[in-house]
Amino acid sequence: MDKDKEKVSCSFCGVEKSANTPLIAGLDGFICEACVTLANQVVTSWGRKRELEKIHGPLPTPSAIKQHLDQYVISQDEAKSVLSVAVYNHYKRLKSESGEFPSLADDYDVELSKSNILLLGPSGTGKTLLASTLAKMIGVPFVVADATTLTQAGYVGEDVESVLVRLLDVAEGNVGRAEWGIVYIDEIDKLARSSESATSVRDVSGEGVQQALLKLVEGSKVKVSPKGRSREGGEQVDVDTSNILFIVGGAFTGVEKIIEKRVKPKGGAIGFHADVTDENDTDTDENKQLLHEINSDDLRYFGLIPEFIGRFPVVCALEALDEDALVKILTEPRNSLIKQYQKLFAYDNVRLEFTDEAIHAIARKAMENDTGARGLRSVLESLLRQAMYDIPSRSDVNHCLVNAGVVEGNEALEFSLIPDASDESAVSDKM
Ligand code: ADP
Repeated sequence: MDKDKEKVSCSFCGVEKSANTPLIAGLDGFICEACVTLANQVVTSWGRKRELEKIHGPLPTPSAIKQHLDQYVISQDEAKSVLSVAVYNHYKRLKSESGEFPSLADDYDVELSKSNILLLGPSGTGKTLLASTLAKMIGVPFVVADATTLTQAGYVGEDVESVLVRLLDVAEGNVGRAEWGIVYIDEIDKLARSSESATSVRDVSGEGVQQALLKLVEGSKVKVSPKGRSREGGEQVDVDTSNILFIVGGAFTGVEKIIEKRVKPKGGAIGFHADVTDENDTDTDENKQLLHEINSDDLRYFGLIPEFIGRFPVVCALEALDEDALVKILTEPRNSLIKQYQKLFAYDNVRLEFTDEAIHAIARKAMENDTGARGLRSVLESLLRQAMYDIPSRSDVNHCLVNAGVVEGNEALEFSLIPDASDESAVSDKM
């Protein structure tokens, strides 16, 4: 027998073929399993590099990022600055990974790790909006998840890995892109465990979800089955979460009391000279200020587990929005609600106008709902619903005026036909 013929080895590493080391034959050579795996890693890193090159443009400064946010988000200056710096650093890590920065002295030969962010503030104050505006700006995949729908493995519901499945889906299956995404998890306060908090609504399983999230948030390789492919087929992919920026947010209702206990000296005024304040009034200036003083002890007392808190080194409070802020939200952002409705009406050749008083009245009405800026759309929707129904079938209207009386429910919407700017005989009609 020709011995040399049997001696087949991997053309890359030279390992000989054996019962334990099968080789794949090519036209002119052979390759072993270890070299296939290595080659796969190399090719994947090429893909990553290409994707990174696509994502980043010139490095925007934190102040440029904040200016961008200013176009979409009203007030919340502190949160904007904090997030601008976080995103600037996210960009830097991106660039350093893609080798775009000139190399630094050996002293700087360290890996840059991310700083996840915890946002706290009442509902409808812009937490999700901030995160999504940032993701759009950088052009990385972005998903919003709701902590209340997540469960620890083995329970009915979505397990935490589902967040990555969705991120992968948004990145169109491209793992390299997904690994630089931003994940926003809302209602994180609802995972508080009950023992140390009077306000939490979830029990042990909330803590279980916090535990399950730890693995995801700290940066690890997680196996996920992309959507649409059969799970049985075992076609799983590894997603490395070390560069995914996690932003979590929640209202943390009642946390002010915990902070207050800590920061205010004991034995304050009691008895006849004590200030009589409404216990339930969480909207005072003092309370707003208190939120900015939050520290990890308060969060732990609220019911987040220390390991979880430790993975969110950046904590930032958002403020409740007052009437003036809501007025600005209605009118100032690039895609403000008023502009959106004006556009909807313009498609029917109708100019929609609001008086200043009407806009203030809308803001006041939204404040009654206690859902922050989220209430604005429902106020506008119910205000304009009938008009949006009637106008498309009317050719005698090209102008619609909303005044304060309409918002307060005392007057009807005013429709009119303005034939021409020079023509004084505009027809007016109230509906
Ligand atoms: P949450 O703080 O509960 O995450 P969102 O960011 O989802 O609130 O806000 C809901 C909606 O309210 C947004 O889509 C946006 O239209 C509006 N909104 C909330 N806060 C602001 C803000 N500070 N500036 C501009 N719009 C805002």
